[in-house]
Amino acid sequence: MGADKETLSFQAEVKQLLHLMVHSLYSNKEIFLRELISNASDACDKLRFEAIAHPELLQEDKDFVIRVSFDKAARTITVSDNGIGMSREEAIQHLGTIAKSGTREFFARLTGDQQKDAQLIGQFGVGFYSSFMVADRVTVISRRAGLPVEQAVKWESDGTGEFTVEPASRAERGTDVILHLKEGEDELLSRWKLAEILRKYSDHIAIPIRMKKERWDKDKNEYVLTDEEETVNQASALWARPKGEISEQQYKEFYKHVAHDFTDPLAWTHNRVEGRTEYIQLLYIPSRAPFDIWDRHQRHGVKLYVRRVFIMDDAEQLLPAYLRFVRGVIDSNDLPLNVSREILQESRDVKAIREGCTKRVLGLLEELSQDRKDDYAKFWAEFGQVLKEGIGEDAANRDRIARLLRFVSTASDGAPTVSLADYVARMKPAQKAIYYLTADSLEAARNSPHLEIFRKKGVEVLLLTDRIDEWVLSFLTEFDGKPLASVAKGDLDLGELADAQEKEQQQKIADEYKELVSKLKEALGDKVKEVRVTLRLTDSPACVVVDRDEMSAHLQRLLKAAGQKVPPVVPILEINPQHPLVQRLKFEQAKLSDWAHLLLEQAQLAEGGQLQDPAAFVRRLNTLLLDAGVKA
Ligand code: ADP
Ligand code: MG
Repeated sequence: MGADKETLSFQAEVKQLLHLMVHSLYSNKEIFLRELISNASDACDKLRFEAIAHPELLQEDKDFVIRVSFDKAARTITVSDNGIGMSREEAIQHLGTIAKSGTREFFARLTGDQQKDAQLIGQFGVGFYSSFMVADRVTVISRRAGLPVEQAVKWESDGTGEFTVEPASRAERGTDVILHLKEGEDELLSRWKLAEILRKYSDHIAIPIRMKKERWDKDKNEYVLTDEEETVNQASALWARPKGEISEQQYKEFYKHVAHDFTDPLAWTHNRVEGRTEYIQLLYIPSRAPFDIWDRHQRHGVKLYVRRVFIMDDAEQLLPAYLRFVRGVIDSNDLPLNVSREILQESRDVKAIREGCTKRVLGLLEELSQDRKDDYAKFWAEFGQVLKEGIGEDAANRDRIARLLRFVSTASDGAPTVSLADYVARMKPAQKAIYYLTADSLEAARNSPHLEIFRKKGVEVLLLTDRIDEWVLSFLTEFDGKPLASVAKGDLDLGELADAQEKEQQQKIADEYKELVSKLKEALGDKVKEVRVTLRLTDSPACVVVDRDEMSAHLQRLLKAAGQKVPPVVPILEINPQHPLVQRLKFEQAKLSDWAHLLLEQAQLAEGGQLQDPAAFVRRLNTLLLDAGVKA
């Protein structure tokens, strides 16, 4: 136990955060109070939960309260709570470092452009450190519940690079945060002003926030503080109140508290569920993805309460992983207060809650997609890739999720706005399948030779470029009774789309090219599985395809890039009999082997693939070019 005063350095990322805040986050300084109240409320929740197993922690005081006071002469504002408090070690940890996963990566992304970074930092959340927007010195005096009076800690910093910790004493458990205001912030030294900020941002806090009353002093001709206190917020759990009594603004502020987010949510759903298991759900869709959405170990955002008592923060059992962007509160009437993670995993009540919440969130997204299309587009841009995981993960809701998917297609501009239902509605009368193409980028997709025949026939094709699309589609084999078919797989059967005359012609051409096809196959040996004539091309001489049940070239590349061993898939080479190059090859003798390889290689390149032996390709190309030049 270090008994003396120690001077310590902030973690590098905290220093960066503090610097940015002081120099560029001016726009809305009053949110510092919201952050401090939010922390005080969290501290009370944590203690209430710990006290279930250790009731003696509440011995000194059972009622939780947050106090906000100010001192005009000393120019300080103090926020006090009787929550869980911090030990010396905890103060060093919690107020000197940022524990969020991915913090380092996040800070590495900051650009140094203060405007842009200020935006980013809003997404990250500034929490406790927002005190330094209005204070040039912050003192924290805290005692961990259960520790003796003289084992409190005093933490202090001017928010530049260092902070000090030293022993202190505090009569009650809990924490005081004392802000020594900067020059020019005197406006905050007013009961009226502080109460206004509290009502604006912290009304939803379930713990009473108390302030001293004022009375008019005739002699001094000004308001003076009395010893009498009053509660300035509603002090009841927001989610337990009837919907009709909660304003939009209150819903939004509550979101910022539970989600530790600085932006308004996109949408929410609030319900009291009755039946075999009873619970309240208040679930929000954020408007922006948190910086660590791709971190699989990211904490899940739904807080679990049992009859208003906070139980845990990251109860991942409450929602499936593909809805990990959802934030909010579940308050159960049935779970035991001493519920553990192990119990959560087994509980039938939790299973019912999870199913109920999943349905609600999907319902909310459906509403958004129908009634607020612009907001749904925003949602899709931020979280679409996460939601897609549900196609593989949640077989029971696969169809509902499939309806929520949005794609880019050959019929849309670059934005992902096409739903499967839109696609089906636009299908040609004789069209049997929903066609898609996977590629590494939108540009590669749009230029793919596989699209040529579809363009000619006016058949829409979905263009898929997300890394997880192939995986998703392995679970989504049909929609609305229509199979999903890759345009780069299998023998292309445009079904009735090809008219009788075309079919006849196709047969004729196949016969005509029989000899060339077998010669090409011979020249290429086991580099190809088969060579065949195709009608799918209009402009390109050749393309490669794989069999329907085989891995696409795109997926092979993805897996290889991810360092996985991929069993070799031998492609099928399809040639375009309408192309002059192919037509000429019927009469080629000497260089046929070079031509065969060149056709295969250019088809692989056009797909975005890489050649096994690029040097050989270049050699062949030059030989044939030279040849052509000499002839001309
Ligand atoms: P966050 O609230 O998102 O965790 P903050 O920067 O607001 O981040 O707070 C950092 C940490 O400091 C909290 O997680 C908590 O552990 C600790 N802390 C802050 N204020 C208090 C308080 N009033 N009582 C106890 N712990 C606190
Ligand atoms: Mg906080």
